[in-house]
Parts: sequence; C-alpha cells; structure tokens
Amino acid sequence: MALIVQKFGGTSVGTVERIQQVAEKVQRFRERGDDIVVVVSAMSGETNRLIDLARQISQQPVPRELDVMVSTGEQVTIALLAMALIERGVPAISYTGSQAGIVTDSVHTKARILSIDAQKIRDELSAGRVVVVAGFQGVDEQGNISTLGRGGSDTTGVALAAALKADECQIYTDVDGVYTTDPRVVAKARRLDRITFEEMLEMASLGSKVLQIRAVEFAGKYSVPLRVLHSFQEGPGTLITLDEEEPMEQPIISGIAFNRDEAKLTIRGVPDTPGVAFRILGPISAANVEVDMIVQNVAHDNTTDFTFTVHRNDYNNALQVLQKAAGELKAREVVGDTEIAKVSIVGVGMRSHAGVASCMFEALARENINIQMISTSEIKVSVVIEEKYLELAVRALHTAFELDAPASKGE
Ligand code: ADP
Ligand code: ASP
Ligand code: MG
Repeated sequence: MALIVQKFGGTSVGTVERIQQVAEKVQRFRERGDDIVVVVSAMSGETNRLIDLARQISQQPVPRELDVMVSTGEQVTIALLAMALIERGVPAISYTGSQAGIVTDSVHTKARILSIDAQKIRDELSAGRVVVVAGFQGVDEQGNISTLGRGGSDTTGVALAAALKADECQIYTDVDGVYTTDPRVVAKARRLDRITFEEMLEMASLGSKVLQIRAVEFAGKYSVPLRVLHSFQEGPGTLITLDEEEPMEQPIISGIAFNRDEAKLTIRGVPDTPGVAFRILGPISAANVEVDMIVQNVAHDNTTDFTFTVHRNDYNNALQVLQKAAGELKAREVVGDTEIAKVSIVGVGMRSHAGVASCMFEALARENINIQMISTSEIKVSVVIEEKYLELAVRALHTAFELDAPASKGE
C-alpha cells in the first residue's frame, strides 16, 4: 500500500464531467489500497477570470485582496471533487490550504511555503478518507490567505508529498509527460521518459510551464519522486530523476524552452567609469524589478552601452527608472523593446561536449534569425531574438539537435 499525492490541473477539472472522471480515477487507486491525497487547481480559465474581475475595479489590486479572491477558484473544485467521490461511495473530505496546515510567508500573490503541519491530513487518511486539498493557496502566520504564484498548485502537490513522505507525487495534466519542447508549438516534440531535476529546473525557469519552478525546486530538495502524466490517457509519463546516468547514448540537449515574457532595455553612451553598472542596476533593483540577462559593450570613445532584460510586466516601471538614471549619468539615450523572445537549449550532456553553442548559432543563422543577446551556463544556452521568429527558431533548433520525433507512417 502506497501513499500517493495526485495533482490535477485546470483543464483536468475544467468541467463537471471531467471532475467525475477524476473521481473515477482516484477511486481506482483507492480500490487498489493506496492512500490518496488529491490536490486540485481551479477550473481552467477561472483564475484568469477572477484576475480580470479585480482589474475592472483596480488596475493594481491590493495583493492581499487579490489573494482572497483568486484563492476561491480552488475552493470550488475541492468541494466538487469531494462530493463526486462521496457520491461514488469513496469517503472523502475537502481541505483549503489553511485547513491543510500550509503556512506561507506574507508575500501575497507569490508566497513561499514556510511549513506544513500535515497531522490533520494524516488523521483523515488513517480514518480511511481521501483528502482533497486546494492547490495554489496557503495562509500566512497572521492568518491571511496567500497564493503561491501562477501554476502554484504543482508546488502544493510536491510540498504535501514532501511533508507526508509520500511514495510518489503524480502531476496529472493535459499532455502525457514532459516533452523536448512545448508539444503545442512543435508538432515533432517527443515525450521524454525521464529528465533530471537539474534539467527540469532549467526548463521551468526558462519558460516551460508544464511544472512550476518552485515545485521542481521542492522535489529536488526533498527528493520527492515526481512524475508528470496525462489525466485521462494511460501511459508512463515522465519521471523527474536525480540520476544522471543514462544507460545508452545521452543526448547533448534534452529540451528547448522559450518565453515571451521578457522585454529589453538599453542605455547608450554612458561614460565608462567604475561603478557604472551599479549606478544603472542599483535603482532598478531598488524598484523591485528583477533583471535577467545583461550585456555591456565598450565603445572607442570610452563610453559604454548597457542592455538588460526584465519581465514585460515591469517594463514601464524599469523604463522610467532608467530614464532618470540616464539623466544623472549623462547617457546619450535610452531605448526599449518589448517584442523579443528568449529561446534556450538545455541539457546536462552539454557539460561534456564542446561546440553546442556554435551549433545553436549556426542553426539560427541558417534561418536568418538575428541574435540580440546570449547567456550561457553549464547546462544551458539562451538567446534573445525578435519575437516574430520564435516558433521558427524553436523548430529549427529542435531539428538541428536531432530531437524531432520519427515521422509516423503516412507522413
Ligand atoms: P495544468 O493546468 O495541468 O497545470 P499547464 O497548462 O500548467 O497545465 O501545463 C501543461 C502545458 O504545458 C501543456 O499543455 C503544454 O502546452 C505546456 N508545455 C510547455 N512546455 C512543455 C514541455 N516541455 N512539455 C510538456 N508540456 C509543455
Ligand atoms: N489556478 C492557479 C493558476 O491558474 C494555480 C494552478 O493552476 O496551478 O495559476
Ligand atoms: Mg500548471
């Protein structure tokens, strides 16, 4: 008998019929004798609907109140799933994040889990009940409702699995595993049987939204066996593993991630003196804007151009701060671009292979795609390009690194 935490995402609980199907699936596991904790998201589209509603009242809703509201999405689905289970004769009970003992910090809309007191859940399991927990939410030490950031139900699932020392955390979603890249963008994407935590962490942080990054961090830190599976199709899914040992040929690149969430800012003609990077980026960080990629070029006339990327939501704020800094630094000009995208290749195999970056640049050159910025780490290479070439770039790289699924008959 195993203890399994199963998390079902928004589309998997998007209609009453689907909730019934989830209940049927949970019942099957239960009848096998497993103890089950289920974590659910809100019905698909519901969190966006709630955020839109708030924006109709306030362009920048007070984060505490936004959390009170968006957390209601998950409260609906826990109750519906518990009812569906009880109707089927499966003893079940729903728990909000607070009832499940999930305590977070007070950073509303992107809170971090501080602790979980899982005793009540353990008692319910001992009493033979399936416990259905609301994903994405917790409560801070003052009793305020908090939420864990978009996609945060994954993190609830993994954190509960860690607290309960579950045998496995299963993330059920609308694709049958983690693919070499988003299968909705590249038809030839391939499902991976396994991927290391390290690679999954990079993929998630570079834009692959199949798992929330904090969920992967948690799973790695607490060694939670984690698997991504399709909610309604049978199959092995993808196992996220600690193990880097591949029995046969290890691919150099495991996957390609991309994101359209960034914007680029450039300050030109800044006198090149010590401390200039600090004088540009200090005010940006003081404005609570996170910077991702940074490039600095020095010109012949002892001035420097400085380019960096930020989240698109922070673009206007960062632009204002930079314009002010430009005045103080006597820079020539400030320019910005929101129509960029970041494409990254990820793979632990890169460690033992030279020439991976140049293979990437060659594939992009063949398609006439200009690279605006580059950043590398041990297991990834990222480039910034014009947004309109994103899909072309991802497809070209997928082919260049031999990730394409073999053509099926008839193609
Ligand atoms: P859920 O609502 O179940 O949490 P999400 O929409 O958050 O589902 O995540 C699943 C989606 O992630 C898929 O529908 C797919 O489009 C997207 N995705 C992005 N990158 C990948 C990838 N590398 N492998 C699989 N899916 C990916
Ligand atoms: N409902 C939340 C969201 O849409 C959390 C989740 O689905 O994981 O972001
Ligand atoms: Mg998700």
